[in-house]
Amino acid sequence: MYKTEKMNLIQKSRSFLNRYQKLQILVHSASVDYTYKNYNVERKPDFAKVTKEDIAFFDGLIPGRVVTDDHELEAHNTDWLHLVKGMSKVMVKPKTTEEVSKILKYCNDRSLAVCPQGGNTGLVGGSVPVFDEIILSMNLMNKINTVDEVAGFAVCQSGVVLEQLDQYLRDYNLMVPLDLGAKVVILAVMYQQMLVV
Ligand SMILES: Cc1cc2nc3c(=O)[nH]c(=O)nc-3n(C[C@H](O)[C@H](O)[C@H](O)COP(=O)(O)OP(=O)(O)OC[C@H]3O[C@@H](n4cnc5c(N)ncnc54)[C@H](O)[C@@H]3O)c2cc1C
Repeated sequence: MYKTEKMNLIQKSRSFLNRYQKLQILVHSASVDYTYKNYNVERKPDFAKVTKEDIAFFDGLIPGRVVTDDHELEAHNTDWLHLVKGMSKVMVKPKTTEEVSKILKYCNDRSLAVCPQGGNTGLVGGSVPVFDEIILSMNLMNKINTVDEVAGFAVCQSGVVLEQLDQYLRDYNLMVPLDLGAKVVILAVMYQQMLVV
């Protein structure tokens, strides 16, 4: 009983912290200066700019999962530490590897720059665009495919959050032996998932 209450309390605190962090990003992002200004970098002219036709293509491919709302994009254009800020005008949220593949093929053919983004908790500015790159969000690629209890091995999509996997594995009496401060860190950070009994 005591253990369950403790777990509930931990979960409530984590959920509060996540919401607080999101709010913090929104409040601070307005005051962050654009990366290209701070670091005096120039956009390469070889890259194309996103057009209405590009948005229409993405909309057709993944209807309802193309974000162009500036307000919603704000948090994805700014990093967790509020040190860098990009100006992306579109974020795509694929659910499958095939969709990622089609998006990347299209972007490659059109010379459109792409910035993959997981939990957006990286501390070195790599997770946000510098200019108007298309944000390729991993948020919806959060399926845990298989768990091999004997080998202690899990196969997941690259957007699975460490905490989500850890909770899922409790049923198997397994855990993820990696507890980063950033709870929304996704599996893209891991080369392999070693699970312990
Ligand atoms: C409070 C806090 C505590 C932390 N504590 C620790 C700690 O104890 N130890 C530690 O090692 N780190 C720690 N970190 C840093 C943590 O490792 C990063 O948050 C992590 O690297 C973020 O990974 P992410 O998958 O969420 O991706 P993001 O932050 O979104 O991106 C990280 C990079 O990976 C790329 N990327 C994202 N998804 C993919 C994908 N599917 N395919 C290819 N590329 C992709 C992005 O373009 C970006 O360059 C902490 C961070 C915070 C905010």
